[in-house]
Amino acid sequence: MLAQLPSLEKITQQRQFFQTGETRNIEFRLSQLKRLKQLILKNQDAIALALKADLGKPQFEAMGAEILLCVEELNLTIKNLKNWAKPQRVSAPLSQFPSSARVICEPLGVVLIIGAWNYPFQLVIAPLIGAIAAGNCAILKPSELAANTSKLIADLIAKTFDPKLIAVVEGGKETTQALLAEKFDHIFFTGSHRVGKIIMEAAAKHLTPVTLELGGKNPCIIEPDTPVELTAKRIAWGKFINAGQTCIAPDYLLVHNSIKDELCQALVGAIRELYGENPAKSPDYARIINDFHFERLRALLNEGKIAVGGETNAEEHYIAPTVLDGVNWNSEIMEEEIFGPILPLIEYSNLEEAIAEINARPKPLALYLFSKSKTTQQRVLNSTSSGGVCLNDTIVHFISPELPFGGVGESGMGAYHGKLTFDTFSHKKGVLKRSFLLDLKLRYPPYGGKVKLLKWLFK
Ligand code: NAD
Repeated sequence: MLAQLPSLEKITQQRQFFQTGETRNIEFRLSQLKRLKQLILKNQDAIALALKADLGKPQFEAMGAEILLCVEELNLTIKNLKNWAKPQRVSAPLSQFPSSARVICEPLGVVLIIGAWNYPFQLVIAPLIGAIAAGNCAILKPSELAANTSKLIADLIAKTFDPKLIAVVEGGKETTQALLAEKFDHIFFTGSHRVGKIIMEAAAKHLTPVTLELGGKNPCIIEPDTPVELTAKRIAWGKFINAGQTCIAPDYLLVHNSIKDELCQALVGAIRELYGENPAKSPDYARIINDFHFERLRALLNEGKIAVGGETNAEEHYIAPTVLDGVNWNSEIMEEEIFGPILPLIEYSNLEEAIAEINARPKPLALYLFSKSKTTQQRVLNSTSSGGVCLNDTIVHFISPELPFGGVGESGMGAYHGKLTFDTFSHKKGVLKRSFLLDLKLRYPPYGGKVKLLKWLFK
């Protein structure tokens, strides 16, 4: 393994390496992406084990939502990179005739990628794919709360890549703050609103552009024309995967009062079907990351009426998949993002009122609607704003590489996945090339009567 360098030295080394121009070579980038793919494929079991140690993450969820998601992103990027990176010809205005115009994708330089703990592998590796594809050098700062995954990422990257290209800095908030004091060419952050503001403030000092992938309270509207059992199953899966610690998990349900009891019962059935009579014994149910979050979530169980779940085990950081009935907009649980396996249910009688309540709150990262009616779907799409929307299912829009993934308003800024990750880490440089063949006199002084001519030309 290569020796660990202090952060500042790593950044300086990367800056010098970037200046050599080596990362501008597409073949070089492709070879690094293929190396990253091999690293992931060869170490799948170790990655899954680290995720198990950090979050009790079931192997299937580790494979699907972390490991293979990155492999898919790599396959797409490796296949399309030459095409994405090609200069694009665009038309030049007649007034500049003869000339040609094109847009060149230019790497930004040295970028910083800071991850959250809930999907601790893919939240740093998926942005890294775009950063490398676009020709940048990257410093990764995985979340210290997922300590096993953070260490594994640091070891694997150090074994596989030259730190002049990719380096990992491990540590807590002091380490992140020390990194933030340095100048980067882009900061890609995944985490909370609170820290998002700290990142943006630090970036402003260097005028560094940021991508902020934040969270929020994602509403899930359930209209009476939905097939209740399938709806409940899709909601239970999207809410309780990773024990509810998913940025796009449905945070709360808004259920039409005519089907509230039926849906509640269907959710009880769905939880039993997915995790058995005692989810604590299910190999398919994850655990809460640490004591702090366990206690934070346990306190929320005192609200409303528990329809199912509510059991906890502090030693194991276990909180059962829980549905809370009897919650209203003023309940404490409606104040902050839940980020755990507790699902409050609020009933409504009029869709317009439900929409008005959503719009009175910060824009969420995801919004869900279960309804067969195209009119209702259109109504909700047109009258709400959110990072993304999934109709008649939950969270699966995340795994569609053609869809931009990111927030709006308080749920974040910027988006990634697929080509957008490449775009996030590229500067689009406009280049106009003029010919010496012709030189229209119109633009030069003395302007004399040329104003009249301009008016005539642009009327
Ligand atoms: P967090 O903001 O506490 O931490 C994220 C990163 O910031 C970590 O690497 C941490 O070391 C660093 N950090 C923490 N405090 C800091 C400080 N004071 N100064 C500088 N750096 C600091 O977030 P988290 O608890 O890891 O993750 C949970 C949040 O992330 C939730 O809000 C969730 O919705 C959001 N999230 C969003 C996405 C997305 O793609 N939009 C994905 C996962 C999680």
